[in-house]
Amino acid sequence: MTELATPPVEERTGVKRISHWIGGRLVAGESGRSGPVYNPATGRQTGAVDFATPEEVDAAVQAAKKAFDAWRQVSLAKRAELFFTIRELVHERREEVARLLTQEHGKVLSDAIGEVTRGIEVIEFCCGLPTLLKSEYSEQASTGIDVYSIRQPLGVVAGITPFNFPAMVPMWMWAPALATGNTFVLKPSEKDPSASLWTAELLKEAGVPDGVFNVVMGDKVAVDAVLEHPDIKAVSFVGSTPIARYVYETATSKGKRCQALGGAKNHMIVLPDADIEMAADAAVSAAYGSAGERCMAISQVVAVGTAAKPLIDAIKERRFFLKPSLIDNVKPGMKAYDDEIFGPVLGVTRVDTYGEALELVNVNPYGNGTAIFTRDGGAARQFQHEVQVGMVGINVPIPVPVAYYSFGGWKASLFGDRHIYGPEGIDFYTRGKVVTSRWPDPATSKVDLGFPQTR
Ligand code: NAD
Repeated sequence: MTELATPPVEERTGVKRISHWIGGRLVAGESGRSGPVYNPATGRQTGAVDFATPEEVDAAVQAAKKAFDAWRQVSLAKRAELFFTIRELVHERREEVARLLTQEHGKVLSDAIGEVTRGIEVIEFCCGLPTLLKSEYSEQASTGIDVYSIRQPLGVVAGITPFNFPAMVPMWMWAPALATGNTFVLKPSEKDPSASLWTAELLKEAGVPDGVFNVVMGDKVAVDAVLEHPDIKAVSFVGSTPIARYVYETATSKGKRCQALGGAKNHMIVLPDADIEMAADAAVSAAYGSAGERCMAISQVVAVGTAAKPLIDAIKERRFFLKPSLIDNVKPGMKAYDDEIFGPVLGVTRVDTYGEALELVNVNPYGNGTAIFTRDGGAARQFQHEVQVGMVGINVPIPVPVAYYSFGGWKASLFGDRHIYGPEGIDFYTRGKVVTSRWPDPATSKVDLGFPQTR
C-alpha cells in the first residue's frame, strides 16, 4: 500500500480520489476497483472512491489490533477528556461536514446540520463514559469474600453504514465503541464516503491515537472481508433489511457479536379525535422531509373512521416544489404498501376502527417506528402497550430516541438483541466479567476440600 503524501485534492478532471484511512493516515487503494461519487444537485461525478481488497481490510484490522492494547489502558478520565475535545471540534466544524453531506448525499444544508447535531448528542452521551462503565460490588457475599462485576472492551470492532446518514450513523457506532475502549474499522457507504475521512482527520487532531479509528472504503468485497475476519469481534450494521439479515447471519456464524438494523415501513395512526391540522403537518414533515430517505420516515398513514377525509384534504394543501406523492386507499398486498419505497411517497389506508389500525401495524414485517395521533390519553397508552414496534411516538411522528436511550426496531427492522447507542450501545461494545475475591488472613488460612458454599 502506498501512503499518500498529501490529502486527495480535486484533480484537473474535477474528480477527487477518495481513499482509505489506515493507522492514522490516508492510504491509496491498490485494488484497481473504484466507484463513482456524484453531487446529486448537478448530477456530476465529483469523486472516485477506492474499493478495498480483503488484504486492505486486513491492514486496517491489523492497525486496529496493534492500537488496542494501549487504547484500552488509557484511563477513563483521559478518555472522557478526549471525548470532550472531540465534541468541541465536531460542534465547531459541523457546518464544514454538513457541506460535505450536502455535496455527496444531496440533502439540504439545514438537514445536514440537523443530522450532525443529532450525532453530536451521541458523542455527548459518551463524554459520561466513566459513569457509564461503573459496575456493581457486593461486599461480604460470603464470609471474607467480595464479588464484583467489570465491563471490558471487545477488541477490534467494525461498523458498516448506509448512504442516508453518512455522518450520524457512523457516530452511533464509533463513539460508544471508542468510549468503551475498543478500536474501530468503519466501512461507510460507497455513495457518500467523504464524511468518514473528515471524521478520521478530526479524531486524529483531537488526539485519538493512530490505529484506533480506521476507514476502509468499498463494496460487498470489503463487507465480506469484515464479516470473515477472525480478529473482528463485533459488527454493527445499518442499512436495508436483506443486507442486514445477510450481515447478521454471516457475522454470527463466524462467532461475532452483531447488531444489524434494517429497513422500515413506519405507520402513523390518526384517530378521529386527533388535531387534524397538527397530524397533517406531522405527516407531511415526517413523510417528505429528507426526501423520505429516513428509516424513521412515516410512509403510511392509517386513518381511522372519520379522520380520513379532513386529514387527506389538509395534507393535500401542503406541497413542496419536488411534488411528493400521496396515494390514497393503499392496502396490504399492493406494492406501494408492502415495499419500503424510501422516497417522498406517503400512502393512506382507511380503516373503521382502532383495532384494525393496530392489526395493520402489528402484522407488518417491519417494526422500526410508529406514531399515534389522538387527544385520548387512554387510547395512546393502550397503543404504546399493544403495538409491536421498537420506537413509538405519541403525537410525535419521528420518535428517534434521545442519545441516553437506545435506538432500534423490532421484527425485520433489527437482527440481534441489542439496540444501537445509549445504554444498549455501551452493553454491545463491552463484555462482562464477574470477580469473586478473597483476601484471607494468612494466620487463619487452611486447606478446605469441601464444595464452595456461600454461607
Ligand atoms: P444498503 O443495505 O444498500 O447498504 C448499506 C451498507 O451495506 C453499505 O455500506 C453498502 O456498501 C453495504 N452493502 C450493500 N449491498 C451489499 C451486499 N450485497 N453485500 C454486502 N454489503 C452490502 O442500504 P442503503 O441503501 O445504503 O441505505 C438505505 C437503507 O438503510 C434503507 O432500507 C433504510 O431503511 C435503512 N436504514 C435503516 C436505519 C435504521 O436505523 N434501522 C437507519 C438508516 C437507514
